[in-house]
This record gives sequence, structure tokens and C-alpha cells, in this order.
Amino acid sequence: MQGTDRENRAEQTRNHWLGTLERHRKDAGGPGSGDYWSPALDCASRDELRAIQNDKIAAVTPFLYENSAFYRRRFDRLGLAPSDIASVDDLARWPIVDKAEMMADAAAHPPYGTYSTMDDALWATRGWMMFSSSGTTGVPRVFRYSQKDRELWSWANARAMHSMGIRPSDCMFICSGYGPHVFAWGVQYALGLMNVAMIPGGGMDSHMRANIIERFGPSVITCTPSYALHLGRVMQETGKDPAASAVRLLFIGGEPASGIENTRKRLEALWGARVVEFYGCTEAAPHAGGYSCPASGAGGGPFTTHLMEDIQVWELVDPDSHEAVPEGERGLTVCTNLHSESSPQLRFMVGDYTVFDTAPCACGRSHVRAVGAFSGRADDLINLRGIKMYPVQIEEAVRAVNGVGDEYEVVIATNADGLDVMTLRVEHDDEATGGTVADEVRSRCEVRVDVEVLPPGTLPKTEFKAKRVRDERKGE
Ligand SMILES: [Zn+2]
Repeated sequence: MQGTDRENRAEQTRNHWLGTLERHRKDAGGPGSGDYWSPALDCASRDELRAIQNDKIAAVTPFLYENSAFYRRRFDRLGLAPSDIASVDDLARWPIVDKAEMMADAAAHPPYGTYSTMDDALWATRGWMMFSSSGTTGVPRVFRYSQKDRELWSWANARAMHSMGIRPSDCMFICSGYGPHVFAWGVQYALGLMNVAMIPGGGMDSHMRANIIERFGPSVITCTPSYALHLGRVMQETGKDPAASAVRLLFIGGEPASGIENTRKRLEALWGARVVEFYGCTEAAPHAGGYSCPASGAGGGPFTTHLMEDIQVWELVDPDSHEAVPEGERGLTVCTNLHSESSPQLRFMVGDYTVFDTAPCACGRSHVRAVGAFSGRADDLINLRGIKMYPVQIEEAVRAVNGVGDEYEVVIATNADGLDVMTLRVEHDDEATGGTVADEVRSRCEVRVDVEVLPPGTLPKTEFKAKRVRDERKGE
């Protein structure tokens, strides 16, 4: 009898959650206007957005409690009932969940953990698809997503890609290996809903991709920023001009780039195209958490990224106290994802530094913007003899020097005197450039570095995500 009651509650709370999402879903099958996929949602007032968030939070917490072992244990341990978290204001009662807590759950309940709302029997009926993290640090983590979630991504991504200016007259070339990385697949699902032409670019080397660009004239290419640089150079080396190609948008993801002005400018000059970007993280949602709009970086202004507030609740918090930071101050991103049965999140620490602005955007969208995009994940912070800096600051410095190659490497090691030192390995045909690079780094990061200047073409080319920092210090 007990089991039956539980099953009933599990199903009832899920149906109520799904019904709530459906009630607020607009323009599910196609764009509502030329400028906005969903004018009613994309341009909703701040009060309307808050009301939608409150409605969804009130539906999602009972759904999680009745369907997810991870969330039920956490509610019980905290002495909270689902009804205690029924609005945005209530979220502060729920301590932030970090990656370590999710990894501990997966380690205790391998291989997937218990945070999803489905047990094995339900998963078996919901058409799961598996993805994994890139595993740059340690064992790759795996995630499954249901068909219901993939439907929800398509719509969220279509709204985001419409905002970037992608339309049915475009043709997108996805330069991805089509491995279990969520980004390209999420884009692909949305293209179907948007009726946009696409060329899948898996299983090809850069020369084949360069030929496709020349022969079939895609107007959008989708890849990591490091790969966009590499692919453009391969075209140049074989006598093709990327800036003269049909490519008008560089749709990048997977690494920070749009917020690094010198990298963005280098990409835009190389391709004669505008950079647009998704922001998100696999745990918080495989679809776009954030996206560029026509006003991002326009007229020399800062690059900004809208965050989808009717689907997720975004907060910025202090890294130590986890208290909310006032608008306009720098903090770490925290995401509550209201739209997933596979990877629901209540206050997940995504951990990228940015600044929020809720003022109206020139594009007409009302959703909060991250200003200057995202300057790096807290996990990536480099600490050199007590001086802290982000890899993006070093990248900004390297890219500021004329003629420096696209690839570079940061090596941190302990020298014979036991002192930690940083060496930048860059490519340039003039060895004297080393001093200029060192000056750029010193002025941005307040740290002295050694610079090794290598002949152009020495460093390995980035085919997917760049691994720029090599930390060889003892005890690291
Ligand atoms: Zn905007």
C-alpha cells in the first residue's frame, strides 16, 4: 500500500510539474515574430518573469522530493519540506549544491548517481541518451538525458539561436566530432525545430572541412573558439580566405572567448564574421543557459549574454560566504534549472565569474544579462606565489601582441631554488617579441613571467578544446 501511495505521488507531482511547464510554454512549434522566437517570454516584464519562476519552483520541489533519491535525502537532512521552497525568495534556505557533492553521489551510486527523477525502470522507457564531460581533470563524468528533456532543449535552444540571428535562410556547418559532448547535439536538435539547413562535420579533418566551406558555402560555423582559429588558418595556408567565405556567424561554445576581447577580435578579423555564443554547463542544463543577442558587443559596447530566466533561476554569489552579491558586483554563477527531469538542479554552483545587469537591453529582451560575458571558472584560478589570476587574463595578454601565433602554452613549475615560476611558450618569427608579451602579462596579471619564443608552427594545433595550462609544480 505504502509503495503504491509513493508511486501515485511520484506520478502526480511529475504531471503537475509538466503541466506547469506547458502552461508557460509559448511558441512551441515556431517563432512568434521575426525578431523574437517567443515575444511574450523573451520580452516579458521582470515581474512576469518572477511570477513564472515562482510557479515553476512551487511545482518542481514536490516533483524532486517524490522522484529523486538525492533530493529527498537532502530535503530530509535539512529538515525542509518541499513546500518550504515554493518561490525565488525561498531558495536561500537551500544550501548551494557543488560539483563535489554531485561527484560524491555518483561515486556512492555508480555510474550515474541518484539526482535524476527516474529509476532504472523509468529510464528504460524514456529513450535515454548518454553524454560525458570532457574529463580534462580526472575520470569523465557521465550524464543521461531523456527524450522529454531533448524536446525541452530544442525549444530553449531555438529561442537562443533565433536571438543570435540564425534563420531558415542560413546553413550551419557543425564542426564537432559528434562524440558524447552535449553542445553540438543540443544545437542539432534545435535546428530541426527551426527548419535551418545543416551539414554535420564529424569524422573530417580540417582540410576536408575547409573544402566544405568553400564548396557548399555554409553561413554559420559551430565549434570551439580555438578550433575556429585553427580552421581559419588551415584555409589561409591552402590559399583560401576565410573572410571571403560565406560564413557570417561564428557560433562558438565550450571555452570562454567572447569575453576575451582580443580573442574575439582575432576571430572576427580572421573570418570577417560576427561571434555569437552559448553559455551553460552540462550539469545545469545541456541547452543554452545564456546566449548572445543583436546588442551584444554592438557599437563597441561590452559583450553581454542573456540568461533564460523563465527556464532557470540565475544567481550571483560571493565565492566564500555564498551570499548574494548586489547587482553590478562580481560574483559566481549559481543555477536553478526548472526544466529537466534528467538533470534537475536546485542552486547548482556553476562557478563562473561575471556581473549581472537587469536593465532593459537595446534588443528588447528583458532577461538578465551577464556583462563582459564570463571571465573564467573559479576552479581554473591560478595561484602563483600568492598572486591569483585566470587563464583568460593571460590569453588576453598573449592576444594583445601583434603577430603572435594562435597557439600558446602556460607552464608552471618549481625551479631549482624551490620557487614556483611561470613560463609562457608562444610562437612568433621575431624572438625579441618575448619582452612585449612579458610586459603585457605583467600589466594585466601583476606577475613576472618568462617567455619562450618558438618558431611559428611549433606548438600542437588545437582540434577540439584547448589545453593551455600545464601545472608541473610539486604537490599539485
Ligand atoms: Zn539583448
